[in-house]
Amino acid sequence: MVTLAQSALGDLEMESLQIPCPSCLSSNRVPSARLGEGPKCGRCKSRLLGEHPVALDDRTFQPYVENADLPVVVDFWAAWCGPCRMMAPQFEATARAQTGRVLFAKLDTEAAPGVASRYGIRSIPTLILFRDGRETARQSGALSRAQIESWLVANSRAA
Ligand code: ZN
Repeated sequence: MVTLAQSALGDLEMESLQIPCPSCLSSNRVPSARLGEGPKCGRCKSRLLGEHPVALDDRTFQPYVENADLPVVVDFWAAWCGPCRMMAPQFEATARAQTGRVLFAKLDTEAAPGVASRYGIRSIPTLILFRDGRETARQSGALSRAQIESWLVANSRAA
């Protein structure tokens, strides 16, 4: 019986993913089978995978991107940027469709100039895909939902 329990626990741990809480940044382990069930943060009860992309800033960007076991795609934008506003609903729709496969986040380059300059953001909107905290792909210019999805498929497969 002990062996059974230990083995079940082992399987559970193997199939769980680390997802940072968008509110308090605690690390949460979520069994991959439960990603679609609206998992909540063990500490503050916020939803880990919301309907909307997570808004990151200079303080939260690094811990969020580094502590996620899923790829994180970040939309670098600004309120004054017309193409960014055009792309925002496309990005939101992609986020709803891809919940549990990729984590979606946004970074306002005006509000978070530190991160924008560290990544040398020269034009917006720019999408950057991160894996284990490292940049793995980058795309500038406004994209449709279909274009965002095919870009994600092409670039998250290798990882
Ligand atoms: Zn939390």
